[in-house]
Amino acid sequence: MTDIIRLLPDSVANQIAAGEVIQRPASVVKELVENSIDAGASEIKVVVRDAGKTLIQVIDNGSGMTETDARMAFERHATSKINSADDLFSIRTMGFRGEALASIAAVAQVETKTRQPDDETGTFLEIHGSEVITQEPVACMAGTHISVKNLFYNIPARRRFLKTDSTELRHIITEFQRSALACPSVAFSLIHNQTEIYQLPEAPLRQRIAHIFGKGMNQHLIPLEAETSIVKISGFIGKPEVAKKTAGEQFFFVNHRFMRHAYFHKAVTEAFEPVLPADSLPSYFICFEILPDHIDVNIHPTKTEIKFEDERAVWQILHATVREALGKFNITPSLDFDREGVPEIPPLGRTQEIKPPQIDINTGYNPFSPPGTAPSRTERPPAGWESLYEGLSPHPSLHERAHAGEEPFSGEAESRGIQFYQFKNRYIFTPVKSGLMIIDQKRAHERILYETFLNNLEQSVQVSQKNLFPVTLELEAGDHTLLMEMHESLKRLGFEIRDLGHGNILVEGVPEYARHVDLKPFIEHLLESYKNTGRDTEAGPHEKIARSLAAASAIPYGKPLTQEEMQHLIDSLFACQSPNHTPGGKTIVFILPVHEIEKWFR
Ligand code: ADP
Ligand code: MG
Repeated sequence: MTDIIRLLPDSVANQIAAGEVIQRPASVVKELVENSIDAGASEIKVVVRDAGKTLIQVIDNGSGMTETDARMAFERHATSKINSADDLFSIRTMGFRGEALASIAAVAQVETKTRQPDDETGTFLEIHGSEVITQEPVACMAGTHISVKNLFYNIPARRRFLKTDSTELRHIITEFQRSALACPSVAFSLIHNQTEIYQLPEAPLRQRIAHIFGKGMNQHLIPLEAETSIVKISGFIGKPEVAKKTAGEQFFFVNHRFMRHAYFHKAVTEAFEPVLPADSLPSYFICFEILPDHIDVNIHPTKTEIKFEDERAVWQILHATVREALGKFNITPSLDFDREGVPEIPPLGRTQEIKPPQIDINTGYNPFSPPGTAPSRTERPPAGWESLYEGLSPHPSLHERAHAGEEPFSGEAESRGIQFYQFKNRYIFTPVKSGLMIIDQKRAHERILYETFLNNLEQSVQVSQKNLFPVTLELEAGDHTLLMEMHESLKRLGFEIRDLGHGNILVEGVPEYARHVDLKPFIEHLLESYKNTGRDTEAGPHEKIARSLAAASAIPYGKPLTQEEMQHLIDSLFACQSPNHTPGGKTIVFILPVHEIEKWFR
């Protein structure tokens, strides 16, 4: 009998192992940045193209590698950070498994240039799918420069599995933020398709937070401080008014490494409980310093879950520290209820419009702003949007004017109130007190629809249906399951969909607004958004449906709008709870400040 067990070739073994460490472009960013931090870099530059699908570059000014080390670094279990099993328990660095570079090189085309500061020449190394293509001396800057091209080029199944650019970019930004917050003493930058997303100088943590989440955040941070024999805690919590409904501003760091910790998360949320509106999440940026032998970092392949030896004790300390900090800043329930921004729950009449509490500040920064739009990241734009119009001549309320049928844009715009100008069938320009307001028409509509749908779902409003000439659609199995998952909610929103089995569905009715849409692309768009929403957020089922349906139903770019339509759109937008951002966090409204305009004409 012949033996049938074979050893896998290294390249295959590496590819398989890579699956654990490298799931998407963001994992590459994380691993490379961690290596740069370990190499003692004081400056780290991340450059990505096409959300990292075609290129990820990490450039550092750290220790660099010798020629031999550069070659060794790409071997599995090659690490300079650990010599014996004992070292595992005293590890202070980010990496130590020695598999990141080997994994990345197994599934991409990697080019490395590296030089130690004291060496004259550096090393250039090119590896495609674990195979060394070139190794030669090169003149380069001190430090390490790694380019990862065409991730998963040799594993088409994985490449197909990647999400849309905006989703992948969001993951990259998340990883980047974690590293940047973990090491504020390192300068970081992030560039996507030649657009600078972040340029973060070395700074204390507080400033780093403000650089990332907007200057406005600064005044909402409460410092934390506790030193005990087991753990030292420092960092900041956000005041309750900056709490959001969606996760995103919760950060724990252990010895300058980001970690997830559901149990400690609970310590913070419980401490916040008396002062937070229901289902809001407090913002926090909490750093633990603890002796390395009191934690185990090795339990998770991507090292984001960390086990503490004295978990309970740390829980207690953390809980007490957060409580105390809230108390010091007089953020106690009794005071809190006197403050603005606390939910008011008036008795509801039948006809009264139901609005969620006015807590939702939700001005999450927008990672997608092009450069030069910094104000949208650093300020919290039109919270009291009406005041924006002050100083423009007295004018009837937006709503009244909407019905008064004002004439189109004219030279007297300002003296007659606000007028609208549609640019590229995509943006609406309108003057406001502080400058020129620019609104993205599709995103605005998305926000309006989202809040309407969500409201209908939560209040169990049944939207009436228009019958259609029934349309049959055939869906791929996964999509079919998803659509059926949404079935009940869609029905309440006016869609009558019947399951015909074998992936076939029959659409018999739609709400009024969808009467003339082409159903097939519409349903595809809906499913696509639903998939993205599902994985990226902790949104509840209603939010997910409302978000996806809003994305699929919003007026497209390229649609010309009349004055009335623009006016109506803007009125409805500012009647929303969170007019500034789409449910996915993208900027809807941008104000070009007068002083910026004036600068151009100096
Ligand atoms: P680990 O970080 O777990 O040691 P990696 O595969 O990420 O494993 O890296 C392997 C080794 O390559 C590291 O231990 C380090 O010696 C070296 N290395 C990787 N990146 C850099 C860098 N940016 N600068 C200097 N050395 C590096
Ligand atoms: Mg590493």
